[in-house]
Amino acid sequence: MSGDTSNRLTLYIGLAIVAAVALAFISPELAVGFEVGGEIFLRLLTMMVVPLVVASVMSGIIGLGDVRKLGRPGALAVLYYLVTTVLAVIVGLVLVNLIQPGVGTIDQATLSAMAAEGQGVAAAQAQATLETILRNLLLMLFTDNLFASAANTNLLPLIVFSLIFAGMLTTMGARVAAISQMIVQVNDALLAFILLLMRLAPVGIFCLVTARFGQAQADGNLMDVLRQTGAYFSTVIAGLALHALVTLPLILWLFTRRNPLRFMYQMSQALLTAFSTASSTATLPVTMECAVSKAGISKRSSEFVLPLGATINMDGTALYEATAAIFIAQAIGVELGLTQQVVVAVTATLAAVGAAGIPEAGLVTMIIVLNAVGLPVEYIGLILSVDWLLDRFRTAVNAFGDSVGAAVVDGAFSSE
Ligand code: ASP
Repeated sequence: MSGDTSNRLTLYIGLAIVAAVALAFISPELAVGFEVGGEIFLRLLTMMVVPLVVASVMSGIIGLGDVRKLGRPGALAVLYYLVTTVLAVIVGLVLVNLIQPGVGTIDQATLSAMAAEGQGVAAAQAQATLETILRNLLLMLFTDNLFASAANTNLLPLIVFSLIFAGMLTTMGARVAAISQMIVQVNDALLAFILLLMRLAPVGIFCLVTARFGQAQADGNLMDVLRQTGAYFSTVIAGLALHALVTLPLILWLFTRRNPLRFMYQMSQALLTAFSTASSTATLPVTMECAVSKAGISKRSSEFVLPLGATINMDGTALYEATAAIFIAQAIGVELGLTQQVVVAVTATLAAVGAAGIPEAGLVTMIIVLNAVGLPVEYIGLILSVDWLLDRFRTAVNAFGDSVGAAVVDGAFSSE
């Protein structure tokens, strides 16, 4: 896609989102009718994820020539994921303690009603303790059936397998030259296919956004919900904004000297897709395409930093989990001391790593955070009603965090 076509596409996607929200407010019933179009676009993106992750991770390793060369950039990527996630959590904690959105905002009757709504979600995961999450995180890396993992879009074991398999290929020399070459070509072809899919993005994104906003409007409570949870909503949004507009740009500039605004524009199709799909996984193909062909991040960096990042690096989710937990404590009048807030920070980080890149996954893994500090999990009902909307913003921040990570690792790579 030429630069001009791509700029036009970004503009169309932006306009599509504005038009989608407008239609949802004007005629919610009509808007909801577009749901099937959104679902088709989502399926088209999601169907690309498994082949793309396997091909790109393998092709990245084959490009390096030797898996041992992954050592330093790999360690840098993991360090980046960890540091940025912790920074995001700290921003969330500081804001929620300063603003105190939960203090005195919700009366007893509403509290009980919302707790009743939260029962369902709570029951689903009531057993999640810190020990079980650590165990599950470890187990998530391995599978006994590659095809089952592929069928369920379980990316972590596929990434682990791809790293090892491609690493082995690089040691086998000419005997496997055809396989290696084929993997690299498959990867190129998949990226080209995604470029083609992106031409549908304005329509797909319009359908996704208008159907979801239309549904909220048809339920008749979007504005009510926003009013009721306004303080909490604004606190999370402020935190996400700080992270995406201050912390990450600063890191990007310090490590790569790239202009953050320009970079954001180069990644904008991915950010808008993340907002529209509320899924880091579904957005991954677009993130990869933007990173390589628009932001000029080398393929060897994008190919392993982005797939892994989309799976485990979720700054927005971590920030939201920490903020929401403290908000719930405030709303039900429980004081959390410094130690308990540190526990919230640690578990929010782990819960974000464990969250799948699918819509509202963070809501479920938040039970871990609540359990860790002994907060009653049914009060998750307090934040249920706006979660679908906050999810879109945090997913965009998740995708942006991954993109900055790829740029930072690439910077370190190319200066070697
Ligand atoms: N929807 C988010 C993502 O895919 C995860 C979450 O916070 O719920 O990145």
